[in-house]
Amino acid sequence: MTLILRDKAALRAWRAALPAGARLGFVPTMGALHEGHMSLMAQARAAADVVIASIFVNPLQFGPNEDLSRYPRPLEADLEKLEKAGVEAVFLPAAEEMYPPGASTFVEETMVSAPLCGAVRPGHFRGVATVVLKLLNLVQPHLAVFGQKDAQQCAVIERMVRDFDVPVEIRRGPIVREADGLALSSRNVYLSPQDRAAAPLIHQSLRTVEAAYLAGEHDAEALARIGLGVLARSARIVPQYWEVRDPESLGAIATVGARGALLAVAAHLGSTRLIDNLVLPPRP
Ligand code: AMP
Repeated sequence: MTLILRDKAALRAWRAALPAGARLGFVPTMGALHEGHMSLMAQARAAADVVIASIFVNPLQFGPNEDLSRYPRPLEADLEKLEKAGVEAVFLPAAEEMYPPGASTFVEETMVSAPLCGAVRPGHFRGVATVVLKLLNLVQPHLAVFGQKDAQQCAVIERMVRDFDVPVEIRRGPIVREADGLALSSRNVYLSPQDRAAAPLIHQSLRTVEAAYLAGEHDAEALARIGLGVLARSARIVPQYWEVRDPESLGAIATVGARGALLAVAAHLGSTRLIDNLVLPPRP
């Protein structure tokens, strides 16, 4: 049975009762669980003795015109999936439990959160860092697993954990995709059939640029142009950014060199915003 913990007191009591020496693995989510989430649960399962997930649609990381109110919340189906995956407990707090009135402290990472999604979603990573630090403090896991699907989020969390000496090991799980390459996302359910048909171009743009890089094109601007060219094959796709960045600092680069690069793309299809990325290996 996956135990449902709805408040901090229940979570703390559960945590305190774990056998001494048991390694605790943690997978934070916003629910609407899919195979991407479940791969992170499996990774935690393999590396830890006890696994806890959280489902919390964090209001602090949504902008005023974003999809907080319509974000999917299929709780029964989520609980069944956690049960099947052998996840021991799930932390399921209400918004007031996480943010009692008067909360006035927030976590702001100031470097890797600046470009890409940070530039187009002001306050987003402040919301992410704040809720993740709170969750890590509450759960006190030995390790926590995050998806490479949100590569910039991983980078922000790794920085925060390092800079604030949070005693946890952060692991990344690979991107899980549909057969046609579309990265799994809770937001894919919003796509109209026509937009769903166009959406694999996002991954194709990444793969096309990877092929160009491996064939000898190392100029960052030229690579990004190639990526945008692939997205332009469908008028349904409105690119927000298509960028070639340093894989760790996420700083701008002119050419891809010995550090490799992160290819990062965000695009709108109708009212749905999708992101994807691919890591280029170092230039030999
Ligand atoms: P979310 O519920 O969207 O906040 O995602 C919870 C965790 O699942 C985050 O660490 C995401 O990066 C990860 N995740 C989301 N989609 C995927 C995917 N397609 N493959 C792997 N991990 C994913």
